[in-house]
Amino acid sequence: MARFDPIFQTALDHMADTHTRRVLRPVQHVGAATVIRGGRELINFSSNDYLGLSHHPALGARAAEWLQQDGTGAGASRLVTGTSPRHMQVEARLASFKGCEAAVLLSSGWQANASVLAALLRLAAGQGAPPLVFTDRLNHASLHQGCMAAGVRQIRFRHNDLEHLDSLLDRHAGDERTMRVIVTESVFSMDGDRTDIAQLTAIARRHGAFTYVDEAHATGVLGQQGRGLCAGHDIDLVMGTFSKALGGFGAYVAGSRALCDWLANACSGFVFTTAPPPAVLGAMDAALELVPTLNEVRARLSRNAAHIRHVIQACGLSSGPSTTHIIPIMIGEAAQALAFAGHMETHGILATAIRPPTVPPNGSRIRLALSAAHTDSMIDQLAHAITRAARVIT
Ligand code: PMP
Repeated sequence: MARFDPIFQTALDHMADTHTRRVLRPVQHVGAATVIRGGRELINFSSNDYLGLSHHPALGARAAEWLQQDGTGAGASRLVTGTSPRHMQVEARLASFKGCEAAVLLSSGWQANASVLAALLRLAAGQGAPPLVFTDRLNHASLHQGCMAAGVRQIRFRHNDLEHLDSLLDRHAGDERTMRVIVTESVFSMDGDRTDIAQLTAIARRHGAFTYVDEAHATGVLGQQGRGLCAGHDIDLVMGTFSKALGGFGAYVAGSRALCDWLANACSGFVFTTAPPPAVLGAMDAALELVPTLNEVRARLSRNAAHIRHVIQACGLSSGPSTTHIIPIMIGEAAQALAFAGHMETHGILATAIRPPTVPPNGSRIRLALSAAHTDSMIDQLAHAITRAARVIT
């Protein structure tokens, strides 16, 4: 045994005792709507590929074309020799998709939030007074990481409670040099509820606060032509990913030209990393062209989600505050959530149990993520499995 292994082993044992230990379970094949695990095909309700684009031929074709032409790697960071016309093209498409002046690409959503937010808060601190950061209690871990990296203590508002945010902004004014930053998500990854962006914008304007909104789960699925919930609103910084409804990998920030130019100079997650490679860029480019045309697909996804929420509630269970394609089945106890997921699996459904620390203590749940790739009969099979599993645990 390596010298320090007893430390790791004790930590793992503690996780096992508290039902929070995770294991990496390989899947033999990931299809558009199914996975093969342990030799068995399961319908996948645990993927963020909400439009099924990861298997769309247009994305694959452009990824292959750009790979053929430009190779497998970008070779350097964007500020060295890594910027190609492809990067500029995708950023221009993104800016127009998001209705912003400019956009900047980053390697992943986690890296974007962790490094962009950190850079922004450090810049704010340089204005002469420490910044005040107002964050939704259920913000994604990467947003916490960004605040932590800047050494800023968060002022947390109750989840999706904009009145509470308003009152906290009243209470914490700072002086005239204090930059106040509101950080939230437009759709929450574990609850599937939405922020009222019009109300958020009005509050931010009244208090002169900067708005930072993570659109990871809304982009492609919600808003006019799938542009997300911030499009058309005066949000200072919109962040999003290509890894979910856009079917690929990577992330972006959209906002003013000055903001994006400054990030390209000051954000460590942009400056000190290799530029996104050609194949990844090709898939991004094709996804951005395709997504605005998919209104019918989005409408069907939304109808399926409403149906499944109804099924959950008819079983006497709660779908939490979800109004989107992300639907929790609220369970509570981690062990019970695992048991529920086990029952779903026996009915051919992959629906992962989400447990603390990803969700609050006693907030364990099944997180269902619906995709446009699910057929009507897959949705029927899901409804059947929920009804059967509910009988066992309630
Ligand atoms: N923001 C939110 C709200 C997320 O849910 C996630 C991923 N689960 C990320 C950012 C990170 O994105 P990525 O997977 O591209 O790193």
